[in-house]
This record gives sequence, C-alpha cells and structure tokens, in this order.
Amino acid sequence: MALRNIAGNERIVERLAESVRTGTVSHAYLFEGDSHADKFAVAKEFAKAVLCEENLRGDACDQCVNCRKMDHGNYEDFIEIGADGSSIKDEAILALQGELAKKPYAGSRHIVVIRDADTMTLRAQNRLLKTLEEPALGTVIMLLSENTENLVSTILSRCIVFRLHGQDSVAAEEVRERARLFAELAVERAPFYRMSAALGDIAQKREEAGAFLDSLERRFRDMALCAYDKRETLLYEPEDRTALKEQGRMLTPARLAAAVSAIEEARRDLARNINTGYALKNMILKL
Ligand SMILES: [Zn+2]
Repeated sequence: MALRNIAGNERIVERLAESVRTGTVSHAYLFEGDSHADKFAVAKEFAKAVLCEENLRGDACDQCVNCRKMDHGNYEDFIEIGADGSSIKDEAILALQGELAKKPYAGSRHIVVIRDADTMTLRAQNRLLKTLEEPALGTVIMLLSENTENLVSTILSRCIVFRLHGQDSVAAEEVRERARLFAELAVERAPFYRMSAALGDIAQKREEAGAFLDSLERRFRDMALCAYDKRETLLYEPEDRTALKEQGRMLTPARLAAAVSAIEEARRDLARNINTGYALKNMILKL
C-alpha cells in the first residue's frame, strides 16, 4: 500500500506526498486523531514514501528494497517506540537519543514513530524537546497521539500538526451534515423554530445527540481557528475551510466562546440525564 491508497484524509496524504516530491519534508510531525483514525498507517506509509528509491510523485513504489523492508518491518533505521505500561518514560527517550546519535545503517536518515506520544512523562517530553530542537540532518520524528492536551506547548510548536479522521460510518456522516447545517443557521441567527426544526430526530436520540454536539463543537472551534488563530493545520474539517472562515468572521471571539460553552453545557445536561430535546433547545437559546 502506498500513501495515496490510504482511505480518508486525502488532503493530508496529498500534502505529505507533495512534501516528499518537493524535498520539503519536515523533521517533526504530530498526527493526532481518535482511536478510529489509523495514525500508524499514515506514519508508516509516509516513512515509506520518504525512504522509497523510486519516489513516484512523492509516493512509495511498494517494489524497491526500502519499500519492501518497510512492509516487512525490518528497515534498519526505522525506530518505533510506545508506552511501557501506561507511559513513555525518560529512559525510552534517552535510548532513542542514543540510537539517533549513531550513523544510519541503511540510508541517510532515521525515521522515528512515537506511538501514544501523549503518555510521555514530563521528563521524557523535555528530553525529546532537545532532539526536536537540534535534529540530525534528515531525521524525521512522527508523534502519534489521541489527545494532545498532555503534550507541552513547546513540543507542539515544533511539530507540523495534522488531525486525522477515522473512517466515518453513514450514520456518523449524517450527524455531521446535520451539525454543519445547524451551525450555519446559528451563525445567521436564524429564528428558534427553524433551528429547532433543523435538529430533526436528533432531539429524541440521546446517543446521536452526543455525536451531534461533538461535531457542532468542532465546527465552532474550527471557525475560531480559521478566523482568529490562523493555525489551519489544526482544523477538524479542513475540507470546509472556505465556509468555516467566512462563518468565523461573522462572529466575534466572545460569541464563538459563548457558543462553545453553550454546547458544552448541553453535553453536561445529557450526561446528567436531562431530557435530550430540552437540553438541545436550551442550547439554541444561548447560541
Ligand atoms: Zn519504493
């Protein structure tokens, strides 16, 4: 399998391949995504594309020695580390630094994948930071994480961050579409009855309502990122960038923050077993 054969995340995959093609591969990446997103597959295929001797428009050929070694898990300079027990400890990063200090065996670079990067202890993170600050030429370090909140900001700021999506089921796709339309109405300050109607049967289904609120919150966060933060690589739904940017500009930062807190309140209401329809309608009044 090559990078471009990975289903979903097409834009991210294309950007990665493009960086290989143009020789602009960075030395540090963070692939963030929930358990449904196959972060390791993207990291591995990206590594293959970087190492491939053929470089087919920036992608792996699946045929050359390096591609085959990568597929068989025996490429000498590919280093993978993960949590030992519940965390990645300082010693693991120390050992990694020892490996990186050696000359690459097979080619001209080391490629490192750190699974569950958010489980790194603070000491491990601070140690890794030194490596990220002064990487050996050619070294590529990829952090995989479900939750970047545990990572220190100095690490985040040294990585190119990509948010990966899982493969969505049809139902999840429908909920997302509904959240998209609903957010649009909220931005326009549509009247209560229209927003209430836009909820459809989600108001009767607690589980879907939860997914709907997640999706809705992501949209408002994306709007804030587009309009005010300018860190667009962090977008959850980069394919909607143009619309999100436009919507974000229509809202003040205060209104964006109020929307996010109204959504979070609705989520807490659901957790407290408050009637789903009531929780959602209460949220509409505050958006
Ligand atoms: Zn190849």
